[in-house]
Amino acid sequence: MVLTIELNKRQEKILSIVKDRGPITGEQIAEKLELTRATLRPDLAILTMAGYLDARPRVGYFYTGKTGSQLLTEKVKKIKVGEYSSMPVVIQESATVYEAIVTMFLEDVGTLYISNKSGQLAGVVSRKDLLRASMGKQDMNTIPINIIMTRMPNITYCFKEDYLLEVAHKLIDKQIDGLPVVKQAEDGKGLEVVGRVTKTNITKAFVELARDEII
Ligand code: ADP
Repeated sequence: MVLTIELNKRQEKILSIVKDRGPITGEQIAEKLELTRATLRPDLAILTMAGYLDARPRVGYFYTGKTGSQLLTEKVKKIKVGEYSSMPVVIQESATVYEAIVTMFLEDVGTLYISNKSGQLAGVVSRKDLLRASMGKQDMNTIPINIIMTRMPNITYCFKEDYLLEVAHKLIDKQIDGLPVVKQAEDGKGLEVVGRVTKTNITKAFVELARDEII
């Protein structure tokens, strides 16, 4: 969906006409502005799509009464995790801490998800977990990752149908960088990781919302 936060002069004029006279047809608005119906069509489409106006067949346009910030809030609340998630990086729980460090560098991620033999989510490892492990005297080539990971059932996760705003709240509450996006495993047991949603994904959503563009 498209959202115009700043309206152009003509759109402002249309809005004010519909506010005063609505419901009003496109034809009547065009007459008032001394423009053709065709010239107005894109502006009316934008105002309708952005939620400022509503259109009813055979009745015309009317003002929804919503302000730009109300529409923005509505839009933020509707964003689903699936629209902004990334590919997860998953390693087996039998991998060593050393292999996890190498994977983190190669894949350029800050968090790895750990799966068990059946491919179900078993744990999470962050950069700091690996740094902590490297401070000890153990040989990182021999310690399995499942010794140091944060394990189920202590993992906070989400589904792709969840709202992004809910995820943002969880990241703040739990003071973590991201959540695995999961789905119920085929056999009904456990969860499979299908994505990840991080602070970066949320920043991206934020930037896109602020981009005052009509596409
Ligand atoms: P870092 O510690 O590298 O800054 P985080 O803040 O994401 O990264 O991780 C903090 C701690 O929380 C780590 O011990 C990590 O294992 C754990 N953690 C990370 N993501 C989750 C999650 N989704 N659920 C539960 N624990 C997590």
